[in-house]
Amino acid sequence: MPLNISVSIAGKDLLLIYGVIGDIHSNYEALTAVVRELQEERVDKILCTGDIIGYASEPIRCMDLIRELNCIVVAGNHDYAAVGKFPADYFNADARAAILWTAKQLSSEYRDFLKNLPLVVEVNDITLVHASLNHPEFFDYITTGAEAQLSFDILKTRICFYGHSHVPLAIFLEGGNMRIDKGGIFDLQNVDKALINVGSVGQPRDWDIRASYAIYDAEKKIVQIKRVKYNIHDAVKKIYSAGLPEINALRLMG
Ligand code: ZN
Repeated sequence: MPLNISVSIAGKDLLLIYGVIGDIHSNYEALTAVVRELQEERVDKILCTGDIIGYASEPIRCMDLIRELNCIVVAGNHDYAAVGKFPADYFNADARAAILWTAKQLSSEYRDFLKNLPLVVEVNDITLVHASLNHPEFFDYITTGAEAQLSFDILKTRICFYGHSHVPLAIFLEGGNMRIDKGGIFDLQNVDKALINVGSVGQPRDWDIRASYAIYDAEKKIVQIKRVKYNIHDAVKKIYSAGLPEINALRLMG
């Protein structure tokens, strides 16, 4: 059974601005660049759509920062795979090599942290999940309208933030019609429900190598996808030094 958690934050009306991040994939350089921006934006709470680890070289520093910032986090497939909660043979050889490498870096404290991540969290008018909402434990991609509809059918809140594909995108339900928007600024005033993929902090796959994240203004009902440059050179160097697959470094350079 998927582990679901509902969080009702006291004084929720004060939570006006959310930062939403995900698919960090052990890229500490990218994560710190995004966190710096979130702090400048003065977000009230940071939400994370999972996959803190995998691919790159700094899983522990990334988990430490996520915990220090008191983020609300759901599990990604890489997070669960590193602790045996999702099969490693689901992944291609390079992703799997990084998962096995990461598993060796984890003390029992970090293993417990990853094991105990929930698959779905509801926070006020937001649902957080890594991939599709129906059967979140399978980590299926949402690639068609029919697949999006299955997630909409389950969605109890107005907005669902997710990740997994590393490509930012919004899918809206408006008066029974579905619409896709890749524009990056989404006005939710007239939207019944929204599935919003926030892209990837640590390994974008949409031909823009800058880290991707979202800001949600709950008062104005606006979501904005933002991009930030980070020190890719250092991130790449660290991947080579750790002896991780070269492709995990090359992918960061586009
Ligand atoms: Zn990912």
